[in-house]
Amino acid sequence: MAKQPMLRFVSVSKEMPDKRPPNLRTEDFGEIYREYATEKAAEQAGRCSQCGVPYCQSHCPLHNNIPDWLRLTAEGRLQEAYELSQATNTFPEICGRICPQDRLCEGNCVIEQSGHGTVTIGAVEKYITDTAWEEGWVQAITPAAERTESVAIIGSGPGGLAAADVLRRAGVQVTVYDRYDRAGGLMTYGIPGFKLEKPVVMRRIEQLEKAGVEFVLNCNVGEDISFDAIRGKHDAVLIATGVYKARDLNAPNAAAPGVLPALDFLTASNRKSFGDEVPEFDDGTLDAKGKRVVVIGGGDTAMDCVRTAVRQGATSVKCLYRRDRENMPGSRRETANAEEEGVEFVWLTAPLGFLTDDAGDLSGVRVQKMRLGKPDASGRRAPEVIEGADYTEDADMAIMALGFEPEDLPKLFEQPELTVTRWGTIKAKFNTHETEMPGVWAVGDIVRGASLVVWAIRDGREAADSILTYLSAPAQVAAE
Ligand SMILES: Cc1cc2nc3c(=O)[nH]c(=O)nc-3n(C[C@H](O)[C@H](O)[C@H](O)COP(=O)(O)OP(=O)(O)OC[C@H]3O[C@@H](n4cnc5c(N)ncnc54)[C@H](O)[C@@H]3O)c2cc1C
Ligand code: SF4
Repeated sequence: MAKQPMLRFVSVSKEMPDKRPPNLRTEDFGEIYREYATEKAAEQAGRCSQCGVPYCQSHCPLHNNIPDWLRLTAEGRLQEAYELSQATNTFPEICGRICPQDRLCEGNCVIEQSGHGTVTIGAVEKYITDTAWEEGWVQAITPAAERTESVAIIGSGPGGLAAADVLRRAGVQVTVYDRYDRAGGLMTYGIPGFKLEKPVVMRRIEQLEKAGVEFVLNCNVGEDISFDAIRGKHDAVLIATGVYKARDLNAPNAAAPGVLPALDFLTASNRKSFGDEVPEFDDGTLDAKGKRVVVIGGGDTAMDCVRTAVRQGATSVKCLYRRDRENMPGSRRETANAEEEGVEFVWLTAPLGFLTDDAGDLSGVRVQKMRLGKPDASGRRAPEVIEGADYTEDADMAIMALGFEPEDLPKLFEQPELTVTRWGTIKAKFNTHETEMPGVWAVGDIVRGASLVVWAIRDGREAADSILTYLSAPAQVAAE
């Protein structure tokens, strides 16, 4: 990890000057919002007790220096707060928006734990960096000196982009290959725009382009270009391809029209927000408008699907999950948001099969009721079927959000020596992220399994540091 700058300050001013314009006009609203946001950020930052045992920092995967940038924000020293926050985080405004803070920094805030409500760390982090963009403090990288070595990065999600940023800063030539037409990985096509606005992702990619990172898009490595060819062209390769194989449900009629994989549904919605033509959305297949929607699954992807369906104008949205609220894997905050928006959660239920009408269209989900039995091998109480309690949920669209698995990369890349775990994820060293193939690193979901943006960023930054060490001493490494 990059070394964190240390800052020490003693006094915190909580007084905010009242700069509100005296007469309100429509054009003032943006300014007033800004003033309000500034006050809120300073107020929240000023609530930090500077407790001296920053659990928030140790529970942030990037070990962000949260107490110090909160203190700077409370003092109105936003540019310094920004400099400090971006020293350890490649995309602070993205993490501020989409980290599950209740499980990370904010969940471990001492003030939260003493029952007084957390300092809203993520919101302050977002505010600081959004301000930095508005003020022009976020500048494209200009390396002090160019290096001749080049690195290929396969996959332009947060893992790949965080590595590209660190490598480019060091002057390395970086080429990012991605099979999609836009970079950003799941930040672009998975996570919905109401959680992460797409221009926020696109401006980061534009800045990397300005900094000299080359993006080769619409390039499916393993099909359009071989892994060997990439390896031959570059001095090192980083694999950051994520996990995309949807877990299937083995149930009668699971291939019926109207039964959809979560990512198809979310990607179509994100593409529409870019203004793309999406025939399967335009013909209604991937559009929830006017439909009774049932989402199956209890993770964050399921929450994104239910909330997207609500926004598309579904007539009803239900979420079936086989355990109860307490045992749901998704974020509590996301679940509460979905409930506020009118989503109905049907706990302790699992799909048994899908029903179709005379035209062959989906008409319902046959559901079996469950109860929680004894803990299984993972320690969680295993759901058991309640015999004879099956019933039908009417549905015009059923979205399967049962999780993701890695593709068979050794096969796709024709690299049997690229070793994988028993879950199919790539084996890589914990800190350096080197795989068992010389000169090849791997980061993010393809190593961890489905995880979080902030972990992919951490991996990408660490792998880039390790690649830089390798590039600086290739002879020794090759001799090992
Ligand atoms: C619906 C959804 C919502 C989520 N919400 C959140 C959230 O709110 N907060 C959070 O922290 N995390 C969230 N996540 C998880 C987060 O998005 C991932 O953990 C993170 O994006 C992983 O980053 P990555 O760089 O490993 O891979 P990805 O972001 O998946 O990027 C991988 C890239 O590799 C490319 N690729 C794959 N194979 C090839 C190939 N053969 N050739 C070329 N390119 C290839 C893909 O096109 C893709 O662009 C969510 C995930 C999903 C699915
Ligand atoms: S990166 Fe995520 S966990 Fe870390 S401080 Fe920001 S919001 Fe919290």
